[in-house]
Amino acid sequence: MRIAVFSTRPYDRRFLDAEAANHPELELTFLEARLDATTASLADGHDAVCAFVNDDLSAPVLDALAGSGVRLVTMRCAGFNNVDLEAARRNHITVTRVPAYSPYAVAEHTVALMLAVERRLHRAYNRVREGNFALEGLLGFDLRNKRVGIIGTGKIGQIVARIMRGFGCSLRAYDPFPNDEVRDYGVRYVDLDTMFAECDVITLHCPLTPETHHLIDEAALNKMKPGVMIVNTSRGALIDTRAAIEALKDGRIGNLALDVYEEEGDLFFEDLSDKVIQDDVFSRLLTFPNVFITAHQAFFTEEALTNIAQTTLGNASVFARDERSGNELTPEEIRGA
Ligand code: NAD
Repeated sequence: MRIAVFSTRPYDRRFLDAEAANHPELELTFLEARLDATTASLADGHDAVCAFVNDDLSAPVLDALAGSGVRLVTMRCAGFNNVDLEAARRNHITVTRVPAYSPYAVAEHTVALMLAVERRLHRAYNRVREGNFALEGLLGFDLRNKRVGIIGTGKIGQIVARIMRGFGCSLRAYDPFPNDEVRDYGVRYVDLDTMFAECDVITLHCPLTPETHHLIDEAALNKMKPGVMIVNTSRGALIDTRAAIEALKDGRIGNLALDVYEEEGDLFFEDLSDKVIQDDVFSRLLTFPNVFITAHQAFFTEEALTNIAQTTLGNASVFARDERSGNELTPEEIRGA
């Protein structure tokens, strides 16, 4: 089976190549290009495409891939908001993903972001390097006894709950499918309005769906405690960034920590340090002293990349044998999820 691997970076190649040694039946073509309508033809002659979070798997791209003979899209990530599953089905393309590779990687990064933004570690690091040892502007707060609201208590949200319990936080959660095990960590499920009114920290761990698009918008921000900390390591479009900027300007948001951004596709995973950033909304975010941004790196640990490579190629191998891995995505499964 020939697989065209899109959006390849050196680390993708390193981990996928290592795992491919266990799969002589798979032949990988590494492509740096991001998958979209203009690059889909690079998959000509391949049976499968391996894609990542910012690749475009909308209907026109899937139509083109099917025309090239592609029968499988093996996503090397958990999220699949960038895949039109109805179009995949129409084109008889199977889509698989890596449902869990290391929820610890993402949960631990979430907590790293919380601490970094509220203790102003980004500013402190630069100051000390420049011989500025003043503390003015670095005042943080204890996380102990703060109320932390977790939106989405799946694999990642549950681990965040366990870690934050260790910090001595009081935990609230919202999830349409509450989980009894999470209650055992001392988490109280509440509705979103209650969470917004009560919590000092709100962290997002739900998938991006039409229902959760701009879940954090102007109206939601107006219901939150003044000075709230918001953390998003899930998907950028859960937050209306323009509304967040207005709330940062007047202090309704006290701290914002992001690993994802709604228009990240044109920015993240590239070295643009020699270029002029064209995205004025993103550039505005960078001007706030109380905003801390990483470029979609929460998943980026040795353990996670090893597991991603194993499951991604394992999914392809199972497909090549005409079997099911259980990691296939269908429109029905998602609507029921
Ligand atoms: P999961 O499927 O285990 O959990 C998601 C939870 O969200 C489920 O419990 C589900 O019931 C809940 N949910 C669904 N709709 C909701 C809604 N409207 N409001 C609140 N909760 C809702 O997923 P996970 O592995 O915990 O991952 C969560 C998200 O993290 C993924 O969707 C993905 O977008 C993101 N992610 C980001 C990175 C990164 O590197 N930044 C890496 C992996 C995953």
